[in-house]
Amino acid sequence: MKDQTPVAVVGCGPAGLMAATVLSEAGLPVEMFDAKGSAGSKFLVAGRGGLNLTHAEPAEPFAARYGTNAEIFKKFLAGFSPNDLRAWLRGLGVETFVGTSGRVFPKDATAHDILKTWIEALNRRGVVFHYRHRWQGFAPTGAPLFLTDTGELLAFPAQGLLLALGGASWPQTGSDGSWASFLTARDIHLEPFRPANCGVEVAWSEHFRTRFSGKPLKNILLRCGDRQAIGDIIITAHGLEGGPVYALSSVLRDLLDKGSPVPLFLDLKRDLPLERIRERLNEPRGKESLANFLRKAIHLTGPAYSLLREIFPPEELDNPTALAEQIKNLPVTIRNTRPLAEAISSAGGVAFLEVDADLMLRKLPGVFVAGEMLDWEAPTGGYLLQGAFSTGYRAAQGLLNWLGHARHS
Ligand SMILES: Cc1cc2nc3c(=O)[nH]c(=O)nc-3n(C[C@H](O)[C@H](O)[C@H](O)COP(=O)(O)OP(=O)(O)OC[C@H]3O[C@@H](n4cnc5c(N)ncnc54)[C@H](O)[C@@H]3O)c2cc1C
Repeated sequence: MKDQTPVAVVGCGPAGLMAATVLSEAGLPVEMFDAKGSAGSKFLVAGRGGLNLTHAEPAEPFAARYGTNAEIFKKFLAGFSPNDLRAWLRGLGVETFVGTSGRVFPKDATAHDILKTWIEALNRRGVVFHYRHRWQGFAPTGAPLFLTDTGELLAFPAQGLLLALGGASWPQTGSDGSWASFLTARDIHLEPFRPANCGVEVAWSEHFRTRFSGKPLKNILLRCGDRQAIGDIIITAHGLEGGPVYALSSVLRDLLDKGSPVPLFLDLKRDLPLERIRERLNEPRGKESLANFLRKAIHLTGPAYSLLREIFPPEELDNPTALAEQIKNLPVTIRNTRPLAEAISSAGGVAFLEVDADLMLRKLPGVFVAGEMLDWEAPTGGYLLQGAFSTGYRAAQGLLNWLGHARHS
């Protein structure tokens, strides 16, 4: 007779929900747990800015987005690829489309719609949801232990456990990393959580901060070491935010960790080569103010001009050659990254050396981990959600194998 003891999946984010999907499709009784009062809080937050589900680029460059973990992610992505994700969403009634940048978005469906339909499908397969159940490690029997909102400690006998507890950014969504101590207590090595895809801090003058916070800098090229990113960025009270800043934030963070501020170089006029700018700035300025001269000569206006004035030494303002060079390569001193709580994602978490190829914890047989709680990072662009989906899928397949179930095709 089939073992009717359920498997427990803890964490109702994309990784946990994907794992529950695989396990329930294989016919296992699945019970899900989450510390929050509802599922998918961070997924819903991701939906606010346009839910970028995955990316359409080929397998090789896609896997390279996971940096030092590219090789292992190649395998996870082969098991549940961006195309598999799109096909699975179609099965759920959600069509997707590829945007001009290759990013994949849902067509005519919000994150809320997807989550609702997904949970309904799981409910139909008998998956049981327990909210306000915070995982607290293990009972002496080895059963997962939960603290309920009534203060009760509940040991839940399960034939397998899959943890998908998220990272440590946006703690208000439930991803607060407080689970870490329960794994370190079992001698599992975790890398410290660090902000990824985050804004950076710059010590603006009071004048610049008050006048330009919230203003965009359009079509800027950012450079740090051999990495660069292009796009629009936002000046904030604390520093800089926006896609290109997030793209370079892990490099900046790693350099900042060495202890001193780091220069981020901005090309404020990337459509004009340096020689052309130099030529134009070498024309006589007459009695024209610098602001008017730069506006007429090279269309440098608004916040970009003010940023130049903020950074560029005033005594050099009459030196056209130095001015041209700074417009193409303005060094903005980055003092810090924004705090982990504000970051889009986190690096750190369960070290890959602690898991086998199926994402089972070597020191805790029968316990699998998936999603952002593992120590990986990737840029924005759909790579974060795809990483959560693919590792959730892989860990669930691993749990099925471990339980001796035939793979479900
Ligand atoms: C502002 C923002 C925008 C984003 N936009 C995008 C985007 O467009 N595209 C993209 O690819 N990614 C995006 N992301 C990232 C993406 O949302 C995450 O990578 C993804 O949600 C991670 O999934 P997960 O299942 O691993 O963890 P989570 O979604 O964080 O889920 C973890 C779950 O575990 C629960 N939990 C934690 N601890 C416990 C415990 N002890 N006991 C029980 N339950 C617990 C939490 O309550 C939570 O429900 C965005 C993130 C943010 C913050």
